[in-house]
Amino acid sequence: MTFKAEYIWIDGTKPTAKLRSKTRILADGAELPLWGFDGSSTNQAEGSSSDRVLKPVFTCPDPIRGGDNVLVLCEVLNTDMTPHVSNTRATLVEVAERFADQESWFGIEQEYTFFKEGRPLGFPQGGFPAPQGGYYCGVGADEVFGRDVVEKHLDLCLEAGLAISGINAEVMPGQWEFQVGPAGPVEVADHLWMARWLLYRVAEDFDIAATLDAKPVKGDWNGAGAHTNFSTKAMREGYDAIITACEALAENALEHIKNYGADVEDRLTGHHETARWDQFSYGVSDRGASVRIPWQVEADKKGYIEDRRPNANVDPYTVTRLMVDTCCTALEKAGQV
Ligand code: ADP
Ligand code: MN
Ligand code: MN
Ligand code: MN
Repeated sequence: MTFKAEYIWIDGTKPTAKLRSKTRILADGAELPLWGFDGSSTNQAEGSSSDRVLKPVFTCPDPIRGGDNVLVLCEVLNTDMTPHVSNTRATLVEVAERFADQESWFGIEQEYTFFKEGRPLGFPQGGFPAPQGGYYCGVGADEVFGRDVVEKHLDLCLEAGLAISGINAEVMPGQWEFQVGPAGPVEVADHLWMARWLLYRVAEDFDIAATLDAKPVKGDWNGAGAHTNFSTKAMREGYDAIITACEALAENALEHIKNYGADVEDRLTGHHETARWDQFSYGVSDRGASVRIPWQVEADKKGYIEDRRPNANVDPYTVTRLMVDTCCTALEKAGQV
C-alpha cells in the first residue's frame, strides 16, 4: 500500500513569497525523502541550473485527504545542501537556538480577506457595503460573509494538530482572522505557514480566493495585519523585562518595519487602529500604538506584548527572528534573563 505526501514550500516570488506544493506517492512506512523541483518556475533558480532541493522540516496529518496521507512543509536548499537565499527558516533556526534559554513564545493573529469575482466577499457588484462598524465579530447574513469556509478551515487545522487558538470575523466584510500559538518561534511560524496553505486550499473548494494583501481595499477600510504577540520567560515573570523589550523595539523600529511585509506603509497610516509606519510608540491598551501592552499585563505586572505592525503578508520566520534577536539581545544586556 501507499500514502500521499503533499510537499509544501515557500517560493522566491518578490515582494511576497507564494506557497507551492506537489504530491509524492510513497510506500507505507517509507521515510520522507529529500525531493527536488524546478526552481526556474518559482523564482528560485535560473533555467540553466534549475534544480532546487526540498527538505522536509515539519509534517502533520493531511486533513483534506485523510487516511495515512500527510502534509510536509519543506525548506529549500541548493544542490550543495546549503540553504537557498529564499530560505528564511534556516536563519530563524540559528537565532532561535542562540536564545533558546530565554524561552520565547509567540501568538500570531493572521488576518486575511476573501475575494470572489474580483471583489471582497460581501461587497456588492459595482459598489460598497455599509461602512465599517457592525462587521467585527458580527453575526447574521447581512454582516458576515464566508463563515462556512472559516469553520471548515478551523476544523482542518485542528485535525492537522496545528496550534490554532481561535478565529474571529474582522472589521471589513469578507475579512477574518485566525490565531496560532502561543508556541516557540520556529513552531509558530511552521504552523502558520501550514495553516495558510490549508486556508488557500480549502477556499478553492468553495471557489473563493483568500488573500493576505495588507490593504485589499483602498480608502476607509481596515487593512489586514498579523499582530505578533511575544514573551520571554523573564517577561512572563516581571514588568521590567516588558519595558526593556518595548524600548529595544523602539531602538530598532525601522529595521523591523522594512521586514514587516510588502506595502506596510499603505496599511500603517495612523488611521484604522494603526500607528504610522515611521513613528514608534508603545502603550497600555493602546490600539493606536505600534506595540500594545495588554491592560491585564500592566495589572499583573508581567505577561507579553503585542507588536501590531506586521502585515498580514509578513513572513513569520522573519518577524519571529527579528523579535527574538532584538528583544533577547536587550534582555541579556540588561541582565534581565
Ligand atoms: P487581540 O485582543 O489583539 O485581538 P487575540 O486574542 O486575537 O488578541 O490574540 C492574542 C494572542 O496572544 C493569541 O494568539 C495568544 O495565544 C497569544 N498569547 C497569549 N499569551 C501569550 C504569551 N505569554 N506570549 C505570547 N503570546 C501570547
Ligand atoms: Mn485578534
Ligand atoms: Mn484582528
Ligand atoms: Mn491584536
